[in-house]
Amino acid sequence: MGFLTLEGLTRLYGDVAAVSDVHLSVAKGEFISLLGPSGCGKTTTLQMIAGLVQPTSGRITLDGRDITQEKPDRGGLGIVFQSYALFPHMTVAQNVSFGLEMRKVIRAERETRVKQALALVQLSALADRYPRQLSGGQRQRVAVARALVIDPPVLLLDEPLSNLDAKLREEMQFELRGIQQRVGTTTIMVTHDQSEALSMSDRVVVMEKGRIMQVDAPYRLYENPATPFISSFVGKMNRLPGVWRHGGVEISGRVLPCEGADLADGAAAVLAIRPEKISLRPRGAGVLDGQIKARFFLGGSWYFTVETPAGLIGVSLPNAGEEPAREADQVGLDWSSASARASKPDGAH
Ligand code: ATP
Repeated sequence: MGFLTLEGLTRLYGDVAAVSDVHLSVAKGEFISLLGPSGCGKTTTLQMIAGLVQPTSGRITLDGRDITQEKPDRGGLGIVFQSYALFPHMTVAQNVSFGLEMRKVIRAERETRVKQALALVQLSALADRYPRQLSGGQRQRVAVARALVIDPPVLLLDEPLSNLDAKLREEMQFELRGIQQRVGTTTIMVTHDQSEALSMSDRVVVMEKGRIMQVDAPYRLYENPATPFISSFVGKMNRLPGVWRHGGVEISGRVLPCEGADLADGAAAVLAIRPEKISLRPRGAGVLDGQIKARFFLGGSWYFTVETPAGLIGVSLPNAGEEPAREADQVGLDWSSASARASKPDGAH
């Protein structure tokens, strides 16, 4: 049995099932992300774990204890909200100390624990500042220190990085994950950012319309998405419709290589391939010819959109230090059959 378990968790708002029959077992020390588009029910799930929203049905257990009916303070879960919710009139140290005061921890121990928590998030030097004197990233770290100082059995993070700019956000992903690994706190994070979920989590829970669609380690989720929705939501995926023929997908008279599904010859099929699994060759030297429509330089990589008889295809190449093909160039696209999958039009991938 998991350390934290959700069993048949459901929350209705009138006719709307914000969360529907969610089952999840989280191991001690695990970092889990709840990932999905706006309105998929991830925040409601987190709020039910936090005790801020009462489930319509289902059960939540923590370390074997049923906490479904317990008050929000249940066993002292640590919560970091998107807004950080720091007290503006208190210093950094006072903000972090607050939860310990509420728990009637004696002053000497409070001081030691606040110092430890601030050291953990590298804010010892800013203990006497007020929130308004801090940058966004520093405020975010105060919020994390405040949640961790009470030594919670579970840390709940609600879009904790969404107020930060792109660069800081990426830095904080690694930092927050590092802190979590050092402290070993079981953590559940809500995010709609797939790269954040992939880079930080032990396992990612993908939700859509209140339901869990897939739970997997980031790499497995990326390589084996269970549905077309997940394949496009987690990373990019080219989906090329055609017909299953001779062990490949035929599009515009060409049979394109891929691994097959259980399909009958002549059945409608979709070939799914990630942009980074495709390479650019001279015209005629690949499995499909096309013309580069647009080219984007992304620093570590180039991204191309290529007009082909099979439709517009996205191709991603690592930046090898020299300029690759340009807009309007005629190219061949190449890939191995092992890097593409065929499925029924409404099936996986
Ligand atoms: P976001 O990323 O936009 O926060 P989310 O995945 O966290 O979305 P939830 O906030 O959990 O989604 O909402 C799930 C569904 O439940 C939505 O359709 C939402 O409109 C509905 N919902 C959430 N809270 C309430 C409420 N208090 N009253 C009525 N409907 C609600």
